Amino acid sequence: MRTHRCGDIRLEHAGETVTVCGWVDGRREHSQHLAFIDLRDYAGIVQVVVDGNHDLRSEYVARITGTVAARLDGTANANLPTGEIEIRDCTVEVLSTAEAPPFPMDERTDVDETIRLRHRYVDLRKKRMQKNLRTRAVVNSAIRSAMEEQGFVEVETPMLIASTPEGARDFVVPSRQKPGNFYALPQSPQIFKQLCMVGGIDRYYQIARCMRDEDLRADRQFEFMQLDMEASFVTQEDVFGFISHAIAGATEAVTGERPTEIPRITWDDAMERFGSDKPDTRFGMELVNLTDLFAETEFNAFKADRVMGIRMPGGAEFSRSKLDDLTDMVKRWGGKGLVWMKVEAAEGEQGGLTLNSPVAKFCSEAELAGIAERLEAEEGDVLFLVADRKRRTQHLLGLLRIELGRPPVTEGGFNYLWVVDFPLFEDINDDGKPVPAHHPFTMPHPDDIEVLETAEGEALLDVRSQAYDLVLNGWELGSGSVRIHRSDVQSRIFDILGIGAEEAQLKFGFLLDAFKYGAPPHAGFAFGIDRVTALLAGEENIREVIAFPKTQSGADPLTKAPTPIDTSHLTELGLQVLPEEEDFS
Ligand code: ASP
Repeated sequence: MRTHRCGDIRLEHAGETVTVCGWVDGRREHSQHLAFIDLRDYAGIVQVVVDGNHDLRSEYVARITGTVAARLDGTANANLPTGEIEIRDCTVEVLSTAEAPPFPMDERTDVDETIRLRHRYVDLRKKRMQKNLRTRAVVNSAIRSAMEEQGFVEVETPMLIASTPEGARDFVVPSRQKPGNFYALPQSPQIFKQLCMVGGIDRYYQIARCMRDEDLRADRQFEFMQLDMEASFVTQEDVFGFISHAIAGATEAVTGERPTEIPRITWDDAMERFGSDKPDTRFGMELVNLTDLFAETEFNAFKADRVMGIRMPGGAEFSRSKLDDLTDMVKRWGGKGLVWMKVEAAEGEQGGLTLNSPVAKFCSEAELAGIAERLEAEEGDVLFLVADRKRRTQHLLGLLRIELGRPPVTEGGFNYLWVVDFPLFEDINDDGKPVPAHHPFTMPHPDDIEVLETAEGEALLDVRSQAYDLVLNGWELGSGSVRIHRSDVQSRIFDILGIGAEEAQLKFGFLLDAFKYGAPPHAGFAFGIDRVTALLAGEENIREVIAFPKTQSGADPLTKAPTPIDTSHLTELGLQVLPEEEDFS
């Protein structure tokens, strides 16, 4: 239907007759007889001069044939790639009329997200969404090439499955043929990719859809896409190589620059220096351990397992109410409080610095001097200190560091980071059972296997695993691990996790069985494509790189999902919906 895309026409086409198709982006009356129309397709906008009598309104779809001509002197638009030309002497065919768009089509207007999503088909016409979805396709394609170059084979795994233990709630699908029974939607292809290894696939990958029923946030949707991979006869080092190649390929395809080797940090160092297992290394403000300075302190608040601090350059300007807000924030995050100290020039002839803080009077001179020295305080800074249990101190200051220092998504480049040597267990439940930090198929660190045999309670938290994460600018892109490939070790881990033999057999019997038939050592990884695309596209929210996402509350304003289903359908599935008001707990 067309000879060119709107956005592609240039001065070199002057004199040619062209046909373009697209949406009316705007209209300006030129004279009584002529009107300027901006016609838009995904490649850009072109100006066409049409007879003023044509009824061509915003978002009408038109096919226009005319002659390309240079614009008159002084009327070129340097901001448009097609700004030097226009199409004249046009014939116009209206292909489709349109109601007034539900929101202004210019990129600058802030439109309520629910309205954008309700009319996503109109929203998608905007340059930002066009660019983002195309960036996403570039990422997918670069990942596929990189994996295939490395000998990986794409294998599809099922959607209707038994549960996968990734730690989130399953979405379930009722079975019509076996009423009262349910399929789970995969939280990941984890078990199947391990079965592929037992099946001799050797190197598996898939751009896989995963579904997890958890609260949504900027970097989380119920369903998301990940590059999922698994390989046999490999070590953790090999996995870093495979994934680095894929991530470098995707980054280069989008930005034109190939990242250099991805640095590594141990989980322990990440917690110690950044208070987070997904450190944003685009900025400093690292945590500093001050505990030993307070070994003999008189100040009760600092008689803690851990005292740590961060330094915020220029923060001495913060008002009292801002500091109070930050203190409240730390309390909401689970802290007892927050100590702040403004670094000011000392009065008197000796000069030097003084720490101005409501708690300064409870600290000795030596303690104050120690704080200033260790945190390398400079005039105009504010220092923030937290005293608590080790992990909580790190966590709270880690959150505060991000709150105060995180640069906008479009600044500071792309700081990929491997976080290695994750602990095997993240916490100990009230019933004394450890909570796995990754899924329960993760191999313990070779040096810690013996400890694992005897460790109990809190001591289990020191057991390391062969699990690793890939982080980009403070976002966890993905995780992976070397897997357990022997059924005896796997049974032992289930046992430690409090998954009894019977339960293990019921839930994962097929995996334990598979391991009995000759399982190769294997390891794998998965990273989120929505997340990496968002960051590469300079977006703070993954919804901006998903064609049809759900809102923060999990609804789809376009199709109205989730919706009730007919009673007859429920009956067929053997289901009954209980009235909402009643309390069934
Ligand atoms: N299945 C894991 C996940 O989806 C990744 C892996 O261990 O390969 O997070």
